[in-house]
Amino acid sequence: MNRDALLAEIESRRHKDTQWRDGKAFCLVYYPGDERSKLIKEVYNMFFSENALNPTAFPSLRKFEAEVVGMAADLFHGTEETTGSMTSGGTESILMAVKTAREWAKKNKPHIKSPEVVIPESAHPAFHKAFHYFGVKGVVVPVGEDYRADLEKTKEAITENTIMLVGSAPSYPHGVIDPIEEFSFLAREKGVLLHVDACIGGFILPFARKLGHPILPFDFSLEGVTSISADVHKYGYAAKGASVILYRTAELRKHQFFVYTDWSGGIYGSPTMTGTRPGGAIAAAWAALKSIGMDGYLEMADATMKATKAIRAGIESIPGLKIIGDPNASLLAFGSDEVDIFAVGDELNLKGWHFDRQQKPASLHLTVSQIHQHVVEEFLSDLTAAVEKVSKFRLSSVSTSFQVGMVKSLQKMLPSPVFQKLQEVTSGKPKMKKGKTAAMYGMMGALAGTGDLQQIVLNFLDQLNSLEFKEG
Ligand SMILES: *Cc1c(COP(=O)(O)O)cnc(C)c1O
Repeated sequence: MNRDALLAEIESRRHKDTQWRDGKAFCLVYYPGDERSKLIKEVYNMFFSENALNPTAFPSLRKFEAEVVGMAADLFHGTEETTGSMTSGGTESILMAVKTAREWAKKNKPHIKSPEVVIPESAHPAFHKAFHYFGVKGVVVPVGEDYRADLEKTKEAITENTIMLVGSAPSYPHGVIDPIEEFSFLAREKGVLLHVDACIGGFILPFARKLGHPILPFDFSLEGVTSISADVHKYGYAAKGASVILYRTAELRKHQFFVYTDWSGGIYGSPTMTGTRPGGAIAAAWAALKSIGMDGYLEMADATMKATKAIRAGIESIPGLKIIGDPNASLLAFGSDEVDIFAVGDELNLKGWHFDRQQKPASLHLTVSQIHQHVVEEFLSDLTAAVEKVSKFRLSSVSTSFQVGMVKSLQKMLPSPVFQKLQEVTSGKPKMKKGKTAAMYGMMGALAGTGDLQQIVLNFLDQLNSLEFKEG
């Protein structure tokens, strides 16, 4: 394809993408504004081809990475011994924390044959991915009524096989910070590691605290915290592909590394999961931290916290809606006992808004960032209209988000006896008749915890990742 044809094709393909530049996306994208992002992009392009696999070939990248890790360690009150690595994202950081814990236990708790990590049900699925990949057992503990990790139940879940506890700052689903200080005491008392998942909160909580928001301690200032994950590609506003995994000591980090000495190609050492590591993402993360700087992050955190507060107040003032729990930072979920919240979601999708749908309890999820300071009123007015419409039992059409696509393909994939049974189960509930997605979600609820649902999602992923996948 020549340049013009290629670019035209790309433009046409982008047409249906979420309009995040207008602040319509309450997830997935973090944008620091045109001016700030221009420089960060320039730096990314400067290192478009460089590979951080071998840092001796590109000492500049080694230095960028060391400084990004250093800045994060400072932000989280690390000691002189605190160190870490850059990774491709929160998932890789979490994978590394779990793998490191497993190796640490092999050395320090050799009697353990089947290592366990105790984790609140609100913790990110990346932990379960890590358990799945690394043969570690995840012991899931229900959250308390405030949706925070439950200290007593966590205590009860600890066995002689436990190697690590996990807390989130904050959790993604409900935006609440787990009782990390209590977990820190507990971890020390039991002689186990404690990982704090600050993937989403890492680059906003410290600034929100500086601005006077009451943010509970969650970092290395607590003695029991042994590792922290924090994503520079979220509230650090860097290019995608940048996260930090930090360890209290270099001794602990050693368990993260992988070395193979018998390869015919030479001695091979690699710090993280990936082999080739994109230079652009590393350089751009450094550029974001250095160019935005303390003042810039404070300014954006202020705008974000103000937008969150206004959105929260707006939601609380709409009859029938309620905020789930008491979110501490810039993420919030809201649901309803009166209207079908997924039907409300369908209406908002029609207006171009993009966000997550959640279960336990049914809710819509917003990750607020600096860009949303410009859309608070527009969003609240669309939300008010959506609730009114849904209260009047108006049917709505369905959009194309991942989740909606998933439930739409439910019908096609389910063996027909199962589908029929589900229809019987759900048809008695008048709530389910309002909207297509809403009805489908009702069925998903009925399926949750069964092997069927896992199979459906696997089939959906298979479809989604094939060339034939059709939108809509
Ligand atoms: C985003 C997120 C992750 C995973 O990060 P990715 O960059 O998507 O891999 C982990 N934990 C929390 C709390 C998150 O918000």
